Amino acid sequence: MHKIAVIGTGYVGLVGGAGLADFGNQVVCVDRIEEKIEQLKRGEIPFYEPGLAEVVKRNVREGRLSFTTDFAAAVAENDVIFCAVGTPEGDEGRVDLSQVDAVAREVGKHMTGYRVIVQKSTVPVGTAERLREMIEASQASPIPFDVVSNPEFLREGSAVEDFMRPDRVVVGADSERALEVMRGIYAPLYLNRTPIVETAPESAELIKYASNAFLATKISFINEVANICENVGADVQVVSYAMGLDKRIGPKFLHAGAGYGGSCFPKDTKALVHIAEEAGAAARIVDAAVSVNQEQKERMVGKVLEAVGGDVSGKTVGLLGLAFKPNTDDMRYAASIVLAEGLSAKGASIQAFDPVAMDNAKELMPFIDYVSDAYAAADGADALVIVTEWNEFRQLDVERLKKIMRSPVVIDCRNVYSPEDFEEHGFTYVGVGRGSR
Ligand code: NAD
Repeated sequence: MHKIAVIGTGYVGLVGGAGLADFGNQVVCVDRIEEKIEQLKRGEIPFYEPGLAEVVKRNVREGRLSFTTDFAAAVAENDVIFCAVGTPEGDEGRVDLSQVDAVAREVGKHMTGYRVIVQKSTVPVGTAERLREMIEASQASPIPFDVVSNPEFLREGSAVEDFMRPDRVVVGADSERALEVMRGIYAPLYLNRTPIVETAPESAELIKYASNAFLATKISFINEVANICENVGADVQVVSYAMGLDKRIGPKFLHAGAGYGGSCFPKDTKALVHIAEEAGAAARIVDAAVSVNQEQKERMVGKVLEAVGGDVSGKTVGLLGLAFKPNTDDMRYAASIVLAEGLSAKGASIQAFDPVAMDNAKELMPFIDYVSDAYAAADGADALVIVTEWNEFRQLDVERLKKIMRSPVVIDCRNVYSPEDFEEHGFTYVGVGRGSR
């Protein structure tokens, strides 16, 4: 059992903190936002993540998990400090490391004995070394410590399962003493033979970016194929299905759509391009994946425009789904933002529904009329756009939609439906990459 402080109680910090407690460790989650910590102390989860509440509740009840804003005490009283703060996009796509730097300074100031500082946030190659220097510089007198890179691979929407049963764990460390600590922390995963890659910090840091950039590239690749399909009269649904049957390719991340969003792919792809540039290398394929993705999001605006006859001014567009993907309330870099802002700039009124992301969306896009369900989003609309493929949008009552919409036009940005599902009810159906229609 290790005593762990997790700094930063966001998606990664809270899921990770609860997961580490579930592995038998003693964990305190720290955040600078008092309201968030108060909510957690009351047993409320500050964001939507399926299954998380149960794990948090169980570990709080069993005395392994607690919450605080007292950073100094957390560093003084725990042997292992996980850093899970945000590393958002900074200037020109570079990573903004200000939150990580602040953690390094505080840890240096408050540590009272040997500590293992574990970097969970996604950070550029060389950050472990930077942390080491900053911690040393902040110490009043020299105290030994080790820095470990332990990038996180969980996906929002299935974060708990991903943390508890990961495909692999990556541990980048230069010291055997720190490695021993990490083996203890992840003992249940070592026991159930989860692949654990022990390597140098630089490789660990790059593994995270290379993995995300590869997945993002796969998405941009199929989106580009979808655009080719539209011009040559092929159907990307069939093309990607058949491609995915090849075991060397695999079916995952091969769905054409509105482009990737979320808190990771957009910033991590751009960061890798910078990391490569600064190291005198090139990341041309990733660079192309980034621009294809931006164009893909904008392309969805064009699809809506075309479907309503070229002009949305004075028209009403209903959006189904706002979150960057189903099963999360995360709006970061969501395709819905490009769509709603683009259509609104061209004079459309937007009405939208999302099962859980509307509170977050309201802060970003106050100009949208937020409604209570899918049918309210379709009511009186000149076009209905499926933006996020929540399960509840997969079985819409098409006849009912036809009765309440002003014009029967559907733009299915996720290819949830077959064109016939709508066309046989007299709808104009527009999907992504369905050139054969
Ligand atoms: P987040 O923004 O949800 O959470 C970060 C938290 O850190 C916030 O609650 C913030 O208040 C807190 N914080 C910032 N500075 C602090 C300080 N000095 N002291 C205490 N708390 C502080 O971020 P996230 O989505 O959890 O991502 C965290 C990191 O993990 C990022 O590097 C991200 O790239 C990476 N990551 C995220 C995901 C994901 O799906 N969200 C998956 C894998 C990796």
